[in-house]
Amino acid sequence: MIPPTPHPLSEVAAKELTADELATLKRNWQAVMADVTAAANACGRDPTAITIIGVTKYVDEPLTAGLIQCGCCDLGENRPQLLSRKAEALTDGSSPTWHMIGHLQTNKVRRVLRYRPVIHSVDSQRLLDMIAQESERAKIQTECLLEVNISGDESKTGMTPEQIRDVLGASKSLSIQITGLMAMAGRGSDSETARQHFRQVRELRDELQDCFDHPLPQLSMGMSGDFGEAIKEGATMVRIGSRIFAGLLEKNS
Ligand SMILES: *Cc1c(COP(=O)(O)O)cnc(C)c1O
Repeated sequence: MIPPTPHPLSEVAAKELTADELATLKRNWQAVMADVTAAANACGRDPTAITIIGVTKYVDEPLTAGLIQCGCCDLGENRPQLLSRKAEALTDGSSPTWHMIGHLQTNKVRRVLRYRPVIHSVDSQRLLDMIAQESERAKIQTECLLEVNISGDESKTGMTPEQIRDVLGASKSLSIQITGLMAMAGRGSDSETARQHFRQVRELRDELQDCFDHPLPQLSMGMSGDFGEAIKEGATMVRIGSRIFAGLLEKNS
């Protein structure tokens, strides 16, 4: 595989931001980091065991680059086209790590794998097979999370717990590494309901680990409105977008 050409461009792209915009972004990012740390400490967890994924799907290259400049090393996108475009424009070789968090069509897999993303949104056996095939072809190993529809919402993507069992039972390829589960709380959940959904995800993970003797350390759950609940239930990756870009979207959306 030919690695993406290194572009030290994030610094250049971030220069398009005004000083005010950059200051707001920095303040938001630091506030989110402080809140994640406080949530972890409040339940006796190590804050450094929680990765904050800055979800940049709302913004263009300059604000994405600005977030990298603030020190965010993990970026999430929900559309393969946008992930590719930004990775192409901003990647500087090793950092950031890209996270594919939205539905991925099988015909887009080859392209996004160029940027070595963690794929959180594996929602079918077919998609996992394609990721395995394309990873093998590129001679890479791809980290994948299985997306579970824990709330049972028809509007939500993800697999049922039964489908997750089938996929995990069938997974044999050495070119993929399934490291955990990803989930969203049901739409419009209050914090107590969200916490129950996250607890169910953790319990499902515990059960799968035992049943398949397969370590699943990662739990990708929690967004701007509910990451506190997710951290209480063991989230290791929180996906935060609107909190980070608060006050900055008017111009860029
Ligand atoms: C947009 C998005 C997020 C971030 O949501 P915010 O509420 O803006 O923090 C997290 N996860 C997924 C899958 C998303 O699509």
